[in-house]
Amino acid sequence: MRIDLHTHSDRSDGTDKPGELMGRAVVAGLDIIALTDHDTAVGWDDARAAAVDLGVGFVPGMEISCTYGGRGVHLLAYLLDPGYPPLAEELRLVLDGRTARLPTTLERLREVGVDITEDDVGAVSGPAEATGRPHVADALVAKGVVRDRSEAFDRFLSKGRPAYVDRYASDLVEMVRMVAGAGGVSVVAHPWGRHSRRSLDTDVLAALKEAGLTGVEVDHQDHDSTARSELRHVAATLGLVQTGSSDFHGEGKLDCPLGVNTTDPEQFEKLLAAAEKSASASGRETPLPVLP
Ligand code: AMP
Ligand code: ZN
Ligand code: FE
Ligand code: FE
Repeated sequence: MRIDLHTHSDRSDGTDKPGELMGRAVVAGLDIIALTDHDTAVGWDDARAAAVDLGVGFVPGMEISCTYGGRGVHLLAYLLDPGYPPLAEELRLVLDGRTARLPTTLERLREVGVDITEDDVGAVSGPAEATGRPHVADALVAKGVVRDRSEAFDRFLSKGRPAYVDRYASDLVEMVRMVAGAGGVSVVAHPWGRHSRRSLDTDVLAALKEAGLTGVEVDHQDHDSTARSELRHVAATLGLVQTGSSDFHGEGKLDCPLGVNTTDPEQFEKLLAAAEKSASASGRETPLPVLP
């Protein structure tokens, strides 16, 4: 059983339509795939319909932009009711913050002599509900300014680079509680990747567990083997579910093919059991997974 619990479609910064992504899952030999676009559930219906047609398992999820101790943290949330009012309101703030950032980003780029327009970005972001820096990066690629997304981040878009602009993100602890309120389960995405290691230590993860956190993503390309084995140990000690995933963004993006990391079926069963418990405790109407 091969399970990949973190992927993106063109409804955020991935490049495949949600249905196409389900087709890719079949080709990659996956049995179950979660769609976890940034801050939105808009791809769920198309993904579910395609998954049912193709006979592949599907888990609706999202990757929510949060902040802890002044740093960005991504929280994966699964099998939650996206219409739970406090959550819907919070996601609206995050999505509006994404949109509001774009003009400033483009102004900063112009200050360093790079001229791209909102239309240039719109041409590459297409149907995205959640726009982001990767779309600006794609526009820079299309204009021939950089070779790929990585170069765009390194030269212009990463924190500390000239076109970086901060945006709104939700408080991590509050969001963990909110996902539980929405009848779902939460898993911290790549907790020790991209500089977040110092902020999310064992004590913080223990506190998040108290707030309702279900798991941590252990097998992810941003974690080296030392980080993975230490994180596995921490998760086992705290009783957190351990997941693994590709964080796929489309062919050729960040070079991490679907299924490059996967979730152990036993851990997945624990995640599903926690989701069932959360759904009934919340009283919300939550989406069911499609199981193969
Ligand atoms: P944003 O959502 O606008 O804050 O952009 C962050 C997203 O950009 C992350 O979720 C990744 O998908 C992507 N990303 C972050 N760093 C890089 C990088 N160095 N190269 C390519 N993509 C990146
Ligand atoms: Zn992304
Ligand atoms: Fe992420
Ligand atoms: Fe992601």
